[in-house]
Amino acid sequence: MNISHHPSEDLLLDYASGALGEAWSLAVATHLALCPGCRRVVSGMEALGGSMLDSIVPAPTSRNTLNAVMTRLDAMTERDAAVPAAPPADGHTPILPQPLRGYAGADADGLNWQRLGLGAYQMPIPTGDKGVTARLLRIPAGRPVPKHSHGGLELTLVLSGAFSDATGSYGRGDLQAADENLEHQPHAEPGEDCICLAITDAPLRFSSLAARMVQPLLGI
Ligand SMILES: [Zn+2]
Repeated sequence: MNISHHPSEDLLLDYASGALGEAWSLAVATHLALCPGCRRVVSGMEALGGSMLDSIVPAPTSRNTLNAVMTRLDAMTERDAAVPAAPPADGHTPILPQPLRGYAGADADGLNWQRLGLGAYQMPIPTGDKGVTARLLRIPAGRPVPKHSHGGLELTLVLSGAFSDATGSYGRGDLQAADENLEHQPHAEPGEDCICLAITDAPLRFSSLAARMVQPLLGI
């Protein structure tokens, strides 16, 4: 897997410090399940955060704190490097890694997808976050999503297939963060339906009248 679009450092720091809401955290945690590089970064942030808490009460062995942090960091890095990536015992790699699969209740082929129109499907993912919507989207291979901008923040994590827009191409594990400044028309790449996790805190703003008219029906 070749992931080229990662969460920003700010987003990872918010995640590591527990400042992110549940739905946003689900997107970051699912990216981490697929991205060893970001797992190492988050482990480092957590280790440094822990050492900063420890240093509030100076310990007599404080001159060894840095060594302790580095040792802990090495241990975490080795542990994390050894964790996911390996396929499950039956050799079938799920489309939805944990923790997302647990939230959805099944892997992608076992879900009750809701029809959105234009061949697209969605599967809402309940979280405890009020005002933030988490859903899986399935866009048919080779088809566009109507051009839209955003009333707030949108995180999109690709799980299967790929999509592209003016900002680049996004495949499995890639995360796109879009805000009010980005107007785009994502296009599912040919060959395979694009399944992605989308987190939004405001409705999308569609450019075309036709898309705006069906928007209330689609709930997006
Ligand atoms: Zn990453």
